[in-house]
Amino acid sequence: MKLSDFFTPRATEAAPPAEPKGRPPRASAAFAASLTFEAVERRYGELMALRGVALDVAPGEIVCLLGPSGCGKTTLLRIASGIEKPSRGRVLISGHEVAGPERFVPPEKRHVGLMFQDFALFPHLSIVDNVAFGLKHLAPAEAQREARGVLARVGMVRHAEKFPHMLSGGEQQRVALARAIVPRPAVMLMDEPFSGLDVHLRERLQEETLAILRETRATSIIVTHHPEEAMRLADRIAVMRNGRIVQVGRAHDLHRDPADLFVARLFSEINEIPWTVSGGALRTPIGPFFVPELAEGDNAILCVRQRAVQLAPVGEGLPGRIVRVKPLGDSALVDLAVQGFDQELRARMRESEVPQRTVEVGVLIDPGRVLVFPADDL
Ligand code: ATP
Repeated sequence: MKLSDFFTPRATEAAPPAEPKGRPPRASAAFAASLTFEAVERRYGELMALRGVALDVAPGEIVCLLGPSGCGKTTLLRIASGIEKPSRGRVLISGHEVAGPERFVPPEKRHVGLMFQDFALFPHLSIVDNVAFGLKHLAPAEAQREARGVLARVGMVRHAEKFPHMLSGGEQQRVALARAIVPRPAVMLMDEPFSGLDVHLRERLQEETLAILRETRATSIIVTHHPEEAMRLADRIAVMRNGRIVQVGRAHDLHRDPADLFVARLFSEINEIPWTVSGGALRTPIGPFFVPELAEGDNAILCVRQRAVQLAPVGEGLPGRIVRVKPLGDSALVDLAVQGFDQELRARMRESEVPQRTVEVGVLIDPGRVLVFPADDL
């Protein structure tokens, strides 16, 4: 599938009259679309890359797909775009089936925008022409103006007349981003659009991209490996593992109430302490945690968030001893030996809160911020 297949060139159509000067930028996509996956499966021989994915992306919503390498994120985007067909299940855009047992709408008819990791630019076109390529329905002057406008927003307008081979990898990536965004598609699919960029540039591009997606009300799925990026960009985050969506929700909900240990690890730094169920509970030094779903003698994992471990004067909380301190700039990691725990606990705190002269401390742990999961969760 070539990138050019995604655009519907209409070079032979009469060009619409040029817009008068001073007119505001083009409006958003004509309507905001919803995107729905219903029990989508994708099989490659023996391998089940997707195992019944169900997801509803509301019009104008931005959903980030988060998960480890190989969990099926790209496959799901490829199915949404039409590059790939589902083995079972359906995909709907604004309620219309675009892939399913009865129907398959080819990519160029779905009006989706794509930015995939292999963002090959057209080598024979200048940067501005690469970006203007998807705007064939506009008068050439207007297409050029739009293309330059978006290039400016990704900090690339001064390279407009250059050719792709004259740009660095990161610069080409910014051009690819501009090219994906400029047609203002109703549905935008982006596969790790900010990977490999330095932190400063990444943050700037994230902000610009977000602003443009919001302005155009593009219904968007953005794939990322980074929880912080997902939290920054998404209205909701869908966490994937082994071809399944294991949890969907707002960042705050995933952080506060993770569905399993895997999700908990993504959204907070935790101490994982193996514990055995006894009398229907994990009997810990900070009180019992009742686990009716687990059987007597089952192994569980007590998850104590690093930020939920706090230091106090000796005599308060559990007796503890500072084993080592790792400064991280404005924060610090403090490893503690704590009475009643067989393994060290790590606390994460502001550097100014780390005691300077004492090794013996009291340790306070808020039981309300402790989670328990079955040990065989993963
Ligand atoms: P990454 O984060 O590394 O890009 P991903 O979550 O996007 O990973 P996918 O690219 O969707 O993962 O791949 C999911 C699984 O499907 C992987 O095990 C991959 O090897 C397999 N797979 C993907 N495409 C094909 C294909 N065309 N033929 C066979 N197997 C494939």
